[in-house]
Amino acid sequence: YQAKHSPSHVVIYDRRMSEKVEREVAIAGQLQQALKDGTGLELYVQGQFNITTRELSGGEVLLRWHDPLMGRISPADFIPIAEERGLIGALDKFVLQQSCQAIQQWQQQGRGLSQRLSVNVSMASFEQADFGIWLEQLLDRFDINGHQLELEITESGLMHNPKGALKTASLLKQLGISLAIDDFGTGYSSLAYLKQFNATKVKVDQAFIMGITDQERSQAIVRATIGMVRELGMQVLAEGVETEQDAAWLVAAGCQFAQGYLFARPMRINEFADSWLPS
Ligand code: C2E
Ligand code: MG
Ligand code: MG
Ligand code: MG
Repeated sequence: YQAKHSPSHVVIYDRRMSEKVEREVAIAGQLQQALKDGTGLELYVQGQFNITTRELSGGEVLLRWHDPLMGRISPADFIPIAEERGLIGALDKFVLQQSCQAIQQWQQQGRGLSQRLSVNVSMASFEQADFGIWLEQLLDRFDINGHQLELEITESGLMHNPKGALKTASLLKQLGISLAIDDFGTGYSSLAYLKQFNATKVKVDQAFIMGITDQERSQAIVRATIGMVRELGMQVLAEGVETEQDAAWLVAAGCQFAQGYLFARPMRINEFADSWLPS
């Protein structure tokens, strides 16, 4: 296809690429700066619920970033850039540290969260040889128990380095930290592997959940996943539950936990505490 190689096409392609790269470099630079003292970074938490009783079952920490020059940037944009440009280790540690600090603070105020706080961790962090030890020291430093923490690893991240993941997973288990597989259905793992990995929870990706009552193919996938996950002794949570119809369908299919705008939006961590941990 000749036109593709014509000079004008090459120029357009190059300019687009360089704009994209320039933006990524700018984001990475600003993010690196933000991670130094946490300026512009804020932890949000979204509640997780028992889908039948609607009681709080936990909370997922979601990072928010407002850059003074570039404005609000979504984690869907900055997390992949942090991963590509070597910043994700610092970012994950920042979020874990802030999360543990919050747990300690609630404890000291006598309003400890009885459920776990769930923190997203990139595979690049998870596979670091010293990650388990770093976490152990973190728990020590804030005097909190591993039972108060859960880590979420995406299914695709997991399959990127299954061996490395198994090592860290066994260390975490000794600390009492539980593991959830995030965005399940978008990677290519087998449930048998997840069982070996000792995951406590499988989070079914929101792509399968949104509007599930109209989608027979998603229904088949989700029904089979719920059955197998529970059969293997793990818990199943549906992500992105937005409507009562979706929730009703999930209850009927045997889903145990849910997260989504129907139940709660992500909110500032202090707001989350005020809503769910009344003093
Ligand atoms: P995730 O871990 O799968 O988080 C769920 C995402 O779905 C969040 O987007 C949340 O705000 C959104 N969400 C929750 N309920 C609903 C719903 O009912 N409808 C819709 N449309 N969306 C819903 P968010 O906060 O933009 O985060 C995007 C992704 O960025 C996360 O996906 C996670 O993979 C990553 N991420 C966020 N914070 C962190 C972090 O601190 N560390 C790391 N490593 N990754 C993070
Ligand atoms: Mg998550
Ligand atoms: Mg997810
Ligand atoms: Mg996701």
